[in-house]
Amino acid sequence: MAARKLAITGGKVIDPAQGIDRVADVLISNGSIESVTDSSTGSSYDGYESVEASGKIVSPGFVDLHTHLRDPGQEWKETIITGTRAAAHGGFTTVCAMPNTDPVQDSAAVVGDVMRRSAADGVVRVLPIGAISIGQHGKQLALMGELADAGVIGFSDDGNPVTNANLMRQALAYSVEFGMPIINHAEDKKIGAGGVMSAGAVATRLGLAGVPTEAETAMVARDLHLADLTKARLHIPHISTMGSLAALRSAKECGVDVTAEVTPHHLTLSDEWVFGLKGEVPEAVGSAAYDTNTKVNPPLRSREEVEAVIDALNEGLIDIIATDHAPHAATDKVCTYDEAAHGINVLETAFSSVFALVDAGKISVVRLIESLTAGPAAILRRDLGSLKKGFSADVAIIDPGSKWIVNPEQFESKSVNSPLAGVELTGRVVTTIYQGETVFDLSVVNETGARS
Ligand SMILES: [Zn+2]
Repeated sequence: MAARKLAITGGKVIDPAQGIDRVADVLISNGSIESVTDSSTGSSYDGYESVEASGKIVSPGFVDLHTHLRDPGQEWKETIITGTRAAAHGGFTTVCAMPNTDPVQDSAAVVGDVMRRSAADGVVRVLPIGAISIGQHGKQLALMGELADAGVIGFSDDGNPVTNANLMRQALAYSVEFGMPIINHAEDKKIGAGGVMSAGAVATRLGLAGVPTEAETAMVARDLHLADLTKARLHIPHISTMGSLAALRSAKECGVDVTAEVTPHHLTLSDEWVFGLKGEVPEAVGSAAYDTNTKVNPPLRSREEVEAVIDALNEGLIDIIATDHAPHAATDKVCTYDEAAHGINVLETAFSSVFALVDAGKISVVRLIESLTAGPAAILRRDLGSLKKGFSADVAIIDPGSKWIVNPEQFESKSVNSPLAGVELTGRVVTTIYQGETVFDLSVVNETGARS
């Protein structure tokens, strides 16, 4: 299948890296982008297989900087195979795999294993993230040079904040040599004090222990100061508080080398979703409450914080959207809210859930696509996230009018932990192309009724 030539014709091409936002044809050959060319009516290309895309949006394949593939070690939740299929289903052609696997991705051996198996079995690109500390225990730095040589794209102890400020300082200082970001889960667990949702009126009504927003804000502030001190690259994952945004703004104004991501759920769901009524606030707390699929870290915040992160994404203060796709088994969620695991299954709903903000006029479709393509590619400093000539032919084709009801049982992911089950969304990825090959095609799924 080496010489497949493909012409995606008549779609609205949105490629923010090149400033393209117009109807055009995308030509692909040998797994690479050949050109984006003006559509002429009824244009046909000799020797090219044709993909008709009128009425659709043609975007570079999405790049996710924050994915938990659970492999190795928790294959009952997700594997490289199911996780990359879920990615393809959601329009993602590159996912960065967080290192909180078992064993942890803290050595060249484990990183090499993930890369080998991803190349062999994955349907999209997997770029591993190395651990900051050995075993993610926060005691001793991992061999960061060895990890960089092995192919990681950054360092994180995600899930575990680096509590020891001196260790964080050392990690930042060493990372300068590799030009890679340190991604620290921003949470002061002592301030959080075992809370299970965001502190506030909803937590009080539900009788659940709350985590104050300051648990995040304090850690973000510390890390920004350390990034300034070391002149290193800091990337703040899943930012969610107004306090963090204020600290981020002032650091960016002072020239600190920092970027930040926000998740689809922090952009679209408030803490009121914990009532279990898809965001409705009941007069009396009923049996639907304590929906464990809403338990996530950082927790879902107040509506005010949600509006603040939307604004910050719009203006570019928040650089990108990343999923924090965190698949969990049913047994991790069929339990009390206190006992439930943190995490939401996101890859397959990410685009559509945020597209609701486009329909509501809160964000432009160009900014949404930029946040999923050119933005993360710039942080990775890789030739990804664009339809530039010679780039890997990674493409997501979106039907902006398509309505669908989220049914996690139809996910490619091995897990079903989504608070969006039963919710109708508009705007959907219908085809995903990776290196010139179709890795997801909704029409085929619909015809056969089968999951590919
Ligand atoms: Zn995470």
